[in-house]
Amino acid sequence: MTVQTFAEIGLAEPLLHALAAQTFTIPTPIQASAVPGLLDGRDLLGIAQTGSGKTAAFALPLLQHLMGGNVRSAPFAPRALILAPTRELALQIEDTLRKLGSQTRLRTTIVIGGASRHRQVEAMRRGPDIVVGTPGRICDLMATRELHLGAVRQFVLDEADRMLDLGFIKDIRKIVAALPQDRQSALFSATMPTEVASLANGLLRNPMRVEIERKEETAPKIEQSVHFVTQSAKRALLADLLADPAFSRVIVFTRTKRGANRVAEDLEDAGHRVNALHGNKSQSQREKALDQFRSGRARVLVATDIAARGIDVTGVSHVINYDLPVEPESYVHRIGRTARAGAAGVAISFCDHAEYPALRAIEKQTGAPLAVASGEPPAAGGRNGSKPSGHYGDRPPAQATRRRRPRNRRPNGGMRSAA
Ligand code: AMP
Repeated sequence: MTVQTFAEIGLAEPLLHALAAQTFTIPTPIQASAVPGLLDGRDLLGIAQTGSGKTAAFALPLLQHLMGGNVRSAPFAPRALILAPTRELALQIEDTLRKLGSQTRLRTTIVIGGASRHRQVEAMRRGPDIVVGTPGRICDLMATRELHLGAVRQFVLDEADRMLDLGFIKDIRKIVAALPQDRQSALFSATMPTEVASLANGLLRNPMRVEIERKEETAPKIEQSVHFVTQSAKRALLADLLADPAFSRVIVFTRTKRGANRVAEDLEDAGHRVNALHGNKSQSQREKALDQFRSGRARVLVATDIAARGIDVTGVSHVINYDLPVEPESYVHRIGRTARAGAAGVAISFCDHAEYPALRAIEKQTGAPLAVASGEPPAAGGRNGSKPSGHYGDRPPAQATRRRRPRNRRPNGGMRSAA
């Protein structure tokens, strides 16, 4: 396949300049496949996840369509609407639109919960061309007639599977019902369960389907390993790992918000620069936590799964699953926060005996057993049992790691996957 440039796929000068400023020279596969059709006005069903370059894949044609003519948007009546499941993802999309649209006169506004409603309404009054938002606050502004969707010609629904997981289906139906028939729509989803397929059926007209292979499933660039450890020894194990400066930008995932706070407090007490990110934090706290992590002012971010998708921070050296997720898909999303944009990454999981079934489900999903970094799986001599053995992480973790130096231990603290 010949590599096309952005100019060859028909993008306008102001967008090419913005791309050059971002040093995006070669379209990613989803961009190469989706942009020409979207420029032609086709609907799109995109099966791809964060990390594929999907934001620019829909943002570039959307900006180009809106640039045409000398149309201005009326107050409260944007011409494009982009829905995202989380505030963080909405903010990232807005940021991409601003950067890629920097050479145009198009204006973007964000409409998300947890931030000043008043300011958002004032921004709507100025007639933005594009609105990026989460379903709850969008419906809220629609209900008070501070947002009209009758002028929307470009509609994007991002991370549709996540939207449904988070229970947004009613809001989405309400929003779609308010959109005019005469529009172009794109729907993106990392997975395509029947609920998403039926949502897509109702939303898209004769869409082109672009599917980008789920790289994270095989995750060749992510070194994955597991420490078998008791719950009470996890804290010391985390401290032990973080003593290694190679752990330069680390996301630690916990199952609960309380757990995230507790781990963050422990790390802070131990002198680490750390923030917690979860659904109980205000929008400004969440943004501050991400900003500090991005800029390197905080070395560790302790997060729950709600934050796993859509966090796009480059240079995450390690993802640590302090607790294993119950859903194997969440594991894939979590570890996908490292090894972004082609860089190598390390994912380390802590597994106590109660989490062993979750580990097995994860291994089934990823298709390969994780390399064992320390401790032993519950059933001695194999992974087929579920009873904890006497060796199950009952040694102090630091010693366990030292004494059982694994064969394929790598200098950065990670392990090569056994795959
Ligand atoms: P996304 O899947 O939209 O979250 O994008 C993932 C990452 O890829 C983001 O950090 C983008 O800035 C980056 N990116 C998107 N398109 C390109 C491109 N054509 N070349 C290089 N990086 C890109």
